[in-house]
Amino acid sequence: MNAIDQHARATPGFEARVAAAAARLAAAAQAHAGRIVQATSLGAEDMVLTDLIARHRLPIAIATLDTGRLHPETLQLADATERHYGLAIERFAPAAEATLHFVREHGELAMRQSVALRKACCALRKLEPLARLLNGRSAWVTGLRREQSDARAEVPFEDTDDAGRAKFNPLADWSQADVWHYIALHGVPYNVLHDRFFPSIGCEPCTRAVALGEDFRAGRWWWEQESAKECGLHVSALPSPALSETTA
Ligand code: SF4
Repeated sequence: MNAIDQHARATPGFEARVAAAAARLAAAAQAHAGRIVQATSLGAEDMVLTDLIARHRLPIAIATLDTGRLHPETLQLADATERHYGLAIERFAPAAEATLHFVREHGELAMRQSVALRKACCALRKLEPLARLLNGRSAWVTGLRREQSDARAEVPFEDTDDAGRAKFNPLADWSQADVWHYIALHGVPYNVLHDRFFPSIGCEPCTRAVALGEDFRAGRWWWEQESAKECGLHVSALPSPALSETTA
């Protein structure tokens, strides 16, 4: 049973939610012409957003963080997405020398040693490249959904990040069933790891499959306490603990 079989379901209001998400993206593109980017993790939600952007020919750049620890399947999806839509995905990698130094000092699995080292790894491989990805942009688009976790229950459609940039979450009110119904309807490419029970996909050493009934994000940093699970990508004005990892 693949991810579409598992999750896709048509529910009342689906078409209206699709139309509203497209309208929000179009309005954001117009308000931030030439300075707006979708920060994609290539997860299911982000693939829906990329499809909407491509389908409606919206002038929104698409960029991703290549942390150097992604699954091969994720890297293959980035290439396949470019081919499928005929667009280029900007890729931001961590600083090579700093990364080499970190690995030499703490080892390949430093993130398992302590929360502090895990956060240091996220800062190096995600936060610093994200800062470059967002440099010169006045707005970004993410695939955050309220249903994804308690910490995301209040995600608004439009927010402001700590640097004062507009942050748009057009799928905030979508369900997992909506996401997969859209993917099925439109033949959107998606990460084959979703078919192997990875609902949320991040770096290879920090992501595992989840068991039936486990939380959406149970497969992320599973060795840590729930309250520690954040890497700062989505630090926002939302009340704590709405600090979390992307759709990355
Ligand atoms: S998710 Fe894991 S491997 Fe990726 S940057 Fe964070 S700690 Fe490092």
